[in-house]
Amino acid sequence: MISVCCPCQYRLAIRLEPGIATIPLAETCGVDPATIFGEIIMLLRPLFTPLAGFAALLCVVGCGNSAVPDVASVPPAPAPAPAPGTPPVLGTKKLTVVVAVVDSLMPQEITATTPNLDALKSEGTFYTESRAIFSAETIPNHVAMMTGVNPARSGIATNNFIDFLDPLNPVERDLSLPEELAANTLFTWVDRKCRVNGLNPDIKTGATLSKKYLFEVFQGDAFDAQRANRNAKVFNVPPDSHWDPTSSPAYIGPGFEYTPDAPTMQQALTQLPEADFFFVSLGDVDRFAHALGTAARSAALLTADAQIGRLRTALEDAGRWENTVMIVTSDHGTDIATNPFTNGISTQGTLDALAGCFTPMTAVQNGGSDSLYVMDRSLPLAQRQAALRAARACLIGTTDCATLCPGATRPANAAQIAGAWYTQDDAADPEGSMPASLVSRHPNLGDLVLVAARGFKFSEPDASGNPIPGNHGHPVTFRNVMLVSGGSPWVKKGQVIAASTATPSDFDRLPEQAENIDITPTVAWLLGLNIQPGDFPEGAGFDGRILDQAFSQFDTAPNAAAPTVCGRFS
Ligand SMILES: [Zn+2]
Repeated sequence: MISVCCPCQYRLAIRLEPGIATIPLAETCGVDPATIFGEIIMLLRPLFTPLAGFAALLCVVGCGNSAVPDVASVPPAPAPAPAPGTPPVLGTKKLTVVVAVVDSLMPQEITATTPNLDALKSEGTFYTESRAIFSAETIPNHVAMMTGVNPARSGIATNNFIDFLDPLNPVERDLSLPEELAANTLFTWVDRKCRVNGLNPDIKTGATLSKKYLFEVFQGDAFDAQRANRNAKVFNVPPDSHWDPTSSPAYIGPGFEYTPDAPTMQQALTQLPEADFFFVSLGDVDRFAHALGTAARSAALLTADAQIGRLRTALEDAGRWENTVMIVTSDHGTDIATNPFTNGISTQGTLDALAGCFTPMTAVQNGGSDSLYVMDRSLPLAQRQAALRAARACLIGTTDCATLCPGATRPANAAQIAGAWYTQDDAADPEGSMPASLVSRHPNLGDLVLVAARGFKFSEPDASGNPIPGNHGHPVTFRNVMLVSGGSPWVKKGQVIAASTATPSDFDRLPEQAENIDITPTVAWLLGLNIQPGDFPEGAGFDGRILDQAFSQFDTAPNAAAPTVCGRFS
């Protein structure tokens, strides 16, 4: 990847895809380039090598400036100040918005035994139906919370994936790459809509995220100068206060890669005083369930509840509670295997056998979901799809595997594959289309993604690959927690929003229910960020919605105006 911020404030990014060079060019230095400029680039593309020289030349052509900048990522220039005559009216009161995540918490786990969570639930608005995005994994759902868009747009569609940035050396890794996060985050929106334009230079964001990969994915696009954002119109900034959990003495390394809840909250309380918007995520419940199962999880629930209590008390002690909206949520649910040693599904052996007749494919397990990739991205689409159709037919049992390729067999527990969906629809196999409610078609999710039935999990490349009992990603873990609480009088107290249907399914996206993608639109409304569809790189608005049932302003006004201007009100 070559990324250049030209002297004229045009950004040029050249990304090597398998077999081709693509040249996104856009406004992230601050100026929206004329379409014709991009067309000139496309015409000139075959004429120049190497790419670095090409980039420099384009800066010259595009800017009329012979200076050649360093190859580096540079943040966007400030946008123009508001037009004269429309000065913002900032009140003297400060709103605090906190989004607190208890990783993998499920709605039924908020009971009298978790008194702090239970109090927030009863004092606020609780959604009986809320949903994670697919895959119901930790990184994509935290990103969904902080972008308000589905994985099809954000690009962060699962936890572990195959990175084809260098197509000759694809590597399996986690999707904690800020440059793959192809949508503006809430931290970036706050920066652009309040500070860059001068509306409220004092507004501050903060994040205390217990897991290493969550810290990493929100580091912003200045983090890696060698890798530009997949979306050339996106340039994310990190939270103003962004804690690295690996810096904690309590950090637990390989196998866990997180800091436990008590020291995480201790750290959060040091960042909280400065923050108008604060994002905190606690990992004990999830990590304990993954590793040790139900009993350990129950113990972790109590400690997580206590930490949420500390957070509330800190806001009360600081005199901020009456102007605080606290959203308590989880990224996904969890599914505890009854027998973690016998309930695995391993597809890699089958894929290896099919490779003799088709092309090599690799399975990347994410617990409850499994992402399958054709490794040779230069193959024609029809050839890749033929391999994927064979894999799908063999794995779900619609065709005998040996007739597809001699020696291929269906893996153990394959009957417990609850879904097998292409991320790019195949007209020759329409049964493999992803359910419409899962807006997660993105190459980072794989070419073919599998989900397990309740009680089962994927284990790649073989049975030893995933020995842990707690897993998520699959539909039975789509249900998550969503409650809107806090001391603010705007929050409607003691309210439960139930589903309009008697038996909502895991896949339902009912208009009255909540979803993780609703958090950013809700916070953006509370903070008065005034984000319009035209502000998005692709010209579309949020995929999520404002959780309007939770706020009194919507009782009388279906499109209630934001209650603050960049977090300030009178
Ligand atoms: Zn999680």
